[in-house]
Amino acid sequence: MLGKRQSLDALADENWDLVVIGGGITGAGVLLEAARRGLRVLLLEQTDFAWGTSSRSSKMVHGGLRYIAQGDIRLTRHSLLERERLIDELPGLVERATYLFPLRKGVFPGRWPMKAILWLYDFLAGIRDHRYLSREQLLERVPGLNRQSLTGAMSYTDALTDDCRLVVRAILEAARHGGVAQNYCRVEQAMADGDKFAITVTDRTSGQTATLSSRRVVSATGAWADRFSGSDPRVRPLRGSHLFVDPERLPVKDCLTVMHPDDGRPVFVFPWEGVTCVGTTDLDHPQDMDIEAAASGQEVDYLLRLINSQFPDVKLDRKDIYATIAGVRPVIASGKGLDPSKERRDHAVWGENGIVTVSGGKLTTFRLIALDALLATGLIDSATHRRGQKSREPGFTPISDAPAAVDAFLHADQGDPDFIQWILDHEDVVHLDDLMLRRTRLGLLLPQAGKAKLDALQQQIQQSLGWDDERWQEERARYLDIHQRYYGVPASPLQQATA
Ligand SMILES: Cc1cc2nc3c(=O)[nH]c(=O)nc-3n(C[C@H](O)[C@H](O)[C@H](O)COP(=O)(O)OP(=O)(O)OC[C@H]3O[C@@H](n4cnc5c(N)ncnc54)[C@H](O)[C@@H]3O)c2cc1C
Repeated sequence: MLGKRQSLDALADENWDLVVIGGGITGAGVLLEAARRGLRVLLLEQTDFAWGTSSRSSKMVHGGLRYIAQGDIRLTRHSLLERERLIDELPGLVERATYLFPLRKGVFPGRWPMKAILWLYDFLAGIRDHRYLSREQLLERVPGLNRQSLTGAMSYTDALTDDCRLVVRAILEAARHGGVAQNYCRVEQAMADGDKFAITVTDRTSGQTATLSSRRVVSATGAWADRFSGSDPRVRPLRGSHLFVDPERLPVKDCLTVMHPDDGRPVFVFPWEGVTCVGTTDLDHPQDMDIEAAASGQEVDYLLRLINSQFPDVKLDRKDIYATIAGVRPVIASGKGLDPSKERRDHAVWGENGIVTVSGGKLTTFRLIALDALLATGLIDSATHRRGQKSREPGFTPISDAPAAVDAFLHADQGDPDFIQWILDHEDVVHLDDLMLRRTRLGLLLPQAGKAKLDALQQQIQQSLGWDDERWQEERARYLDIHQRYYGVPASPLQQATA
């Protein structure tokens, strides 16, 4: 349970109804929906909660305009209704935000096609939030925007979140219903054993290995899904990277969708937790999935080119970037060799050898994805699944004994000692990088990996986690090394070639 790490022996003593492999948003959703229905459910995450793709998204809780463009009205409607539900239930963690889509002469889509799409988008969500902005109104909101052929913009709303905190919040909610989640526990193998599964697990904090028993297993391992599924590979890993930029150098008030000058791909530039975020890229990721994904020098160049063509006076360069982040999207491959950006993004559930695999999809629809996975395990029937899909019952209840920042994270002072203390006491921080990169995002939001803040927090962290000076130095060095390798700002390949 969060805040009370258990030994593998204790976990092996239980007869679990369900073991969920993977502690991203999909696994957290399955844990929550199963625990809510009274099942004995355990989630095991090989690294830290949300360490995978679920800490590396574009942070958008959205219906997905691309689904409408692809003609998938049903999926768009489901996503939009889930978006509205999350905005209602998690104020301060999922918040409505204004999105601007600048329009340029001769560039598709123009004003009227966009207006028609947004009318349908709002209609499906049951809101009316879109409008046209004239060129002058747009430039008032975004003064530095390239004015060439600019005619105006369409303004509409979607939502923003902190993806890691959404995962942790779902796990905290599940814990209140009796769900158990343990980080740094890697599932090595899951084998059918009569009418149960034998699941071999290594606790990476102690090195201890044990075999657990469960009636059902769901693999919610995202981009790692092909390892457990036992069927032909289905996941096409696609990497997407973002930059976290000094907000004084690139100030934005709204989420802008701008087109990349090289390939016409839409890229977001948006305000997030006090910095400006730019992304994403979208390319195949053939690298070893055991190594943490990192942005390449080419991706940083690509995103800088976007900014400097859209904001010609800013002249952004590498020293303005606080950090980068790269995630691997578990896209269910069409097998048609499509351009990465053209692959569909919805989820799939499939089963082989009794293990149910669920992969693909989005943050926004995690509740519906979880219900689909539970239906496939046979632990809920189709009537319960249907009722769950349509349910208007709240999925989240406020955490009354926590500092306000836990529920209203988007407005939190992330370095606030009371908030940090609650995290240290309740959220299973095992390593310093868990605290700096995921429970808080201080390592992404501050220059130089937030070293100054780290020093200010040293005593509190050491005392709370019982770390002596030697352990502190090890953890500090480990965090700074991880930051430099996977969250740093890689040099341009052009500079490297001439060095
Ligand atoms: C660049 C980018 C931008 C995106 N933007 C958005 C967006 O704005 N909005 C949106 O809704 N969606 C977005 N997505 C998609 C969304 O982030 C993913 O669909 C979602 O996070 C996937 O969650 P998951 O839980 O399935 O996978 P993950 O979060 O990757 O979780 C899988 C977990 O399984 C664990 N695991 C693997 N093997 C084992 C094992 N053997 N034992 C135990 N644990 C294991 C991994 O460590 C990992 O933490 C984006 C994705 C990317 C890459």
